[in-house]
Amino acid sequence: MELYKENQLKIYNSLSKTKEAFKPVHDGHIGMYVCGPTVYSNAHLGNVRTFMFFDVAFRYFLHLGYKVRYVRNITDAGHLENDADEGEDRIAKRARLEEIEPMEVVQRYTVDFHDVLKKYNFLPPSIEPTATGHIVEQIEMIKEIIDKGLGYEINGSVYFDVVAYNKNNHYGILSGRKIEDAIHNTRTLDGQSDKKNPQDFALWKKAGEQHIMRWPSPWSDGFPGWHLECSVMSSKYLGSQFDIHGGGMDLKFPHHECEIAQSRTCSGHDPVNYWMHTNMLLLNGQKMAKSTGNFILPDEILTGDNKVLSKAFSASVVRFFNMQANYRSILDFSSDALEASEKGYLKLMDALSSLANLSTQNSSSINISEWKQKCYAAMNDDFNTPVLISHLFEGVKFINQIKEDKASITAEDLVIFATTMNAFVFDVLGLLNDVKEQSSDKIDGVVALLIKLRKEARENKEWELSDQIRDELLAIGIQLKDGREGTTYSMS
Ligand SMILES: [Zn+2]
Repeated sequence: MELYKENQLKIYNSLSKTKEAFKPVHDGHIGMYVCGPTVYSNAHLGNVRTFMFFDVAFRYFLHLGYKVRYVRNITDAGHLENDADEGEDRIAKRARLEEIEPMEVVQRYTVDFHDVLKKYNFLPPSIEPTATGHIVEQIEMIKEIIDKGLGYEINGSVYFDVVAYNKNNHYGILSGRKIEDAIHNTRTLDGQSDKKNPQDFALWKKAGEQHIMRWPSPWSDGFPGWHLECSVMSSKYLGSQFDIHGGGMDLKFPHHECEIAQSRTCSGHDPVNYWMHTNMLLLNGQKMAKSTGNFILPDEILTGDNKVLSKAFSASVVRFFNMQANYRSILDFSSDALEASEKGYLKLMDALSSLANLSTQNSSSINISEWKQKCYAAMNDDFNTPVLISHLFEGVKFINQIKEDKASITAEDLVIFATTMNAFVFDVLGLLNDVKEQSSDKIDGVVALLIKLRKEARENKEWELSDQIRDELLAIGIQLKDGREGTTYSMS
């Protein structure tokens, strides 16, 4: 029997602001859409936190035996500065500054994004659609909104009539904004906006002469509004009503509010059953911002190449650190906090490495099935990873007690125990045991030092010492090889 049948998930729905029992539209299947990155710069750590949480949710659904279609888009057009309806396209701006094609910007930062996610052991989504790959569908949706009387064209641009929509719907239902306050930032050069109401948002923008990223449409050569792509791509791949839509908290308004308005206009019903939003990631108690320098890239953590870090940390330590906090809480990133997480992570890996070799007895003094249920209960309770981790550390305590003969376990229980520990640590949390890799890094360092000392000895004609270094390394299985490029080593 699939595990999901015996695990009732509860999900905090940002729309109802309560934890609700999760019931998918189609039994045994989950459709999940997460707003992906706008690929105009390197993926930043705050984004990684959001995607990492949804990676763990995805992993847990798979572990429970659901068939999941996970769609995470790439925004490669239409996202203007400051999330507003005016201003320059973020990608076009970067292209102009770097003097390259917009699609070169898209390519560069899409590759970077995938590269980072791979290093952090993410599972790829089922579909990763792009905005530019769905221009035709976006134009169709605009036509439909115009037909329903909620879109209007002015000077080649098309806007969504928020005030008219709000007569029969609740604009602000997700973000809690009142319609009077839900004004979309509009930077107008001449003090005049095309829009009927300041609350309205763009569905299609006429491209200015300088604007490179443009497509033909019935209204003008232009480009789609940022909010449209997610309504189009989620309904195309998941249907007009699907299970889960996720993203960072900052996307609730305007982005997700606009998505609801567009989709409801076309289908007549709510597009999403469970809205999920992750909270912010701070750096040393402050909001991360490139402009203030309070900023760190995911890659810099792996190399230690940032002044806020005391050293480099592995991707699994960062993952572990993220999962020690609830996704709905603000998380404060710092070097000290990572060091604390590293200690916990190493303790966990150390215990897991001895799990398979534990000796078994005729009876168990530990209630393994109760412990296992607690692990599932934590994840079933809105993906409460910090509580799950506390139960995994209870598991570490069991391992140590068994090793010290202070507790006993039967062979049957050990199988359940080991399977559950491994499933949660590696499959669900997505941690890797990179402790071995770390120790091989250390060996690299030590051998490099010995190679350097041997080279110095040879330069000083201290042949006895240089031979001693070579022979003693060989005796422990490390063979030095002198070549034109210097000395390398291999291990037997
Ligand atoms: Zn989106």
